[in-house]
Amino acid sequence: MKQNTTSSDWIARSLRSVWHPCTQMQHHEEVPLIAVSHGKGPWLYDHEGRRYLDGISSWWVNLFGHANPRINGALKDQLDRLEHAMLAGFTHEPVVELSEKLAALTGHNLGHAFYASDGASAVEIALKMSFHYWRNAGHPAKQEFVCLQGSYHGETIGALAVTDVALFKDAYGPLLRAARTVASPDARNARDGESARDVAQRAIRDVEALFAERADHIAAIIVEPLVQCATGMAMHDPLYLQRLRELCDKHHVHLIADEIAVGCGRTGTFFACEQAAIWPDFMCLSKGISGGYLPLSLVLTTDKVYEAFYSEDVTRGFLHSHSYTGNALACRAALATLAIFEEDDVLARNRATATRLTLELAPLLDHPRATHFRQRGMILAFDAVEPDPARAATFARRFFTGAVENELLLRPIGRTVYLMPPYVLDEEEIVGLAARTRQVFEAVIAA
Ligand SMILES: *Cc1c(COP(=O)(O)O)cnc(C)c1O
Repeated sequence: MKQNTTSSDWIARSLRSVWHPCTQMQHHEEVPLIAVSHGKGPWLYDHEGRRYLDGISSWWVNLFGHANPRINGALKDQLDRLEHAMLAGFTHEPVVELSEKLAALTGHNLGHAFYASDGASAVEIALKMSFHYWRNAGHPAKQEFVCLQGSYHGETIGALAVTDVALFKDAYGPLLRAARTVASPDARNARDGESARDVAQRAIRDVEALFAERADHIAAIIVEPLVQCATGMAMHDPLYLQRLRELCDKHHVHLIADEIAVGCGRTGTFFACEQAAIWPDFMCLSKGISGGYLPLSLVLTTDKVYEAFYSEDVTRGFLHSHSYTGNALACRAALATLAIFEEDDVLARNRATATRLTLELAPLLDHPRATHFRQRGMILAFDAVEPDPARAATFARRFFTGAVENELLLRPIGRTVYLMPPYVLDEEEIVGLAARTRQVFEAVIAA
């Protein structure tokens, strides 16, 4: 890598050779591609020293800033010991310690950890494990999965089948095994006079009716606890999760909590499920678990599920593996991330940060062109009012471009502008993030 290569060189070369994710490549004729040279704390820098405040934690993965000295130190140490070893027939310190720590964080309700590399694979694992559990337990007819309207659980074929975001799903519909979709408890669905709890109660009746009729065929329901992120930061009352747990127990259906985005402190508690005081049968984690450093995902499950696979018979075992399962470097990054949670009072600091951000964004609460301002933990969002459909369709792209011009990385979902920053913003960065968000919003709706 030559020192003096400019951002525009890297961009031109990237556009020739790299097929970027979730991107209509032609849009890069108008929308800038940014060549990142290095990162520090919540900032990303290009080759000319232009900087961008990473307001979305680099797709929701980064918790404690880029090039975090504590995580860097742990990884450098790990690198000289063991980078990776296969996890079938072998084990190692980082994977054992991480599994024990996560089990402890669930109060040993979810004491068995199965590893993969990306979030979608964790979802695939939870679905397969649930299906196989029921077969091992003598209920082979339980083969169906239920998801929520607006759900997002990843884009591999199994995970996409339980995803309900038209943009990602429609093009691949014929490849997918149909799942059943129930109402979303999204608090924005409130009718006149309804509270978020009322919406949750109403949504749960949909699940109740489905389970009453079809539970014999249903293996599991999968849910993003508290915030359905990828559909546009749709938030719901914890009551929904409590009622869902009760219904799953009553009808013998597994509850899969996809905490890939909402876990690791994002919603204000370490796990989102804690706010409903429930534990699922399967919990998927990824994204923030490695501090945003390395691909790592895992599924946590119960003694009961684990024991249903424990046998002399190979085919009763869980038949699933990935080459990088339990990668030592990724596990070590996760241990360093969990150590920061233990050593610093991260959740308390986040409460203060979220309160400050909300205060700084307060003018949006009664802004004529903004609706549904909402916040849970370190997720803040509002929806732009863009009555003209053509303008609404380009809102996200226009906002992204305006943000980049203001040293800000924000990437709205449709008309939903959201902040999901790393947990390390200082006072100046908090004020700057809020001020620039408002400034860009005003410019984009006025243009
Ligand atoms: C991002 C995400 C996934 C998929 O994770 P990948 O690592 O992108 O495959 C699954 N579920 C939720 C809730 C997510 O936000």
